[in-house]
Amino acid sequence: GGSSDTGPTAERTAPEQMTATDVKVNVSIPEAAQRAAATGADGVGLLRMEHVVLSTGETPAHYVATHGEEAFVDTLADAIRGVADEFYPRPVRVRTLDAPTDEFRRLAGGEDEPAEHNPMLGYRGIRRSLDDTDAFELQLRAVKKLYEMGYDNLEPMFPLVTDAEDVLGAKAEMERVGIDPDKRPWGVMIETPASALSAAAICQTGLDFVSFGTNDLTQYTLAVDRNNEAVAGRYDELHPSVLELMEDTIETADDHDVATSICGQAASKPAMIRRLVETGISSISVNVDAVRDAQREAKRVEQRLVLESVRE
Ligand code: PEP
Ligand code: MG
Repeated sequence: GGSSDTGPTAERTAPEQMTATDVKVNVSIPEAAQRAAATGADGVGLLRMEHVVLSTGETPAHYVATHGEEAFVDTLADAIRGVADEFYPRPVRVRTLDAPTDEFRRLAGGEDEPAEHNPMLGYRGIRRSLDDTDAFELQLRAVKKLYEMGYDNLEPMFPLVTDAEDVLGAKAEMERVGIDPDKRPWGVMIETPASALSAAAICQTGLDFVSFGTNDLTQYTLAVDRNNEAVAGRYDELHPSVLELMEDTIETADDHDVATSICGQAASKPAMIRRLVETGISSISVNVDAVRDAQREAKRVEQRLVLESVRE
């Protein structure tokens, strides 16, 4: 897919939906889109833009300085388009840049990146995007360009928000580049405890969905570095405190008609699927190898819930 200049090459026949809960797939590199689409997933729950940027071997600032702004927009748009095309009309959530500075420091131009003691708690995700708005606007312009080509299945998603103010900041940037947030579905990741605790305010910003980033939500809730072997035994996405933040957020989001989702690694764990489908999550998004099993598990839970409601 993705070879025409004018938009979606074809309406792909969406596979018959197996589950009431949407089961989507995470796509890391655009080259993997075809295989991901063939799984019958109900869309892409997470397409990480940083993979596209990191694969250029240059920091965004270096890329723009060397090749120009339009080239950066085109590189992003081409990569996203390959995925949007493969899944069309199934929705594709495209997440704006979220690489910690230590990853950028390895790239050409990396010497200009800040050296941080705690990159995971530092200059990444929406914090950086709202500060370094040049690179953020170019990312949004790539999405806008694709909307104009007819890829109305794209859904921008913003990482690492702390509170409603971050969400409103992202919304204002969308408006600034000419994406109408009232006409396009968009949402944020819930991956800091603060964002889960301010779900009510976040759900009143006009967004359409929230998606749990359990990789980060777990590390920040439990204060366990997700990359530190010494405390790996304490890293538990099913910890009651993590689950409580998620379940409370789902209830709040339901009250505001905001869709809920999970796209962290834990989304493929059967125990997590059981808990979240029981709580009423709208969709789960898993790695390509886990789609089948996740569909089966979700179906099993849904059938049990129907039986239980009939018996009551
Ligand atoms: C997460 O935190 O669960 C997530 C999906 O984002 P990333 O792994 O890219 O931080
Ligand atoms: Mg994350």
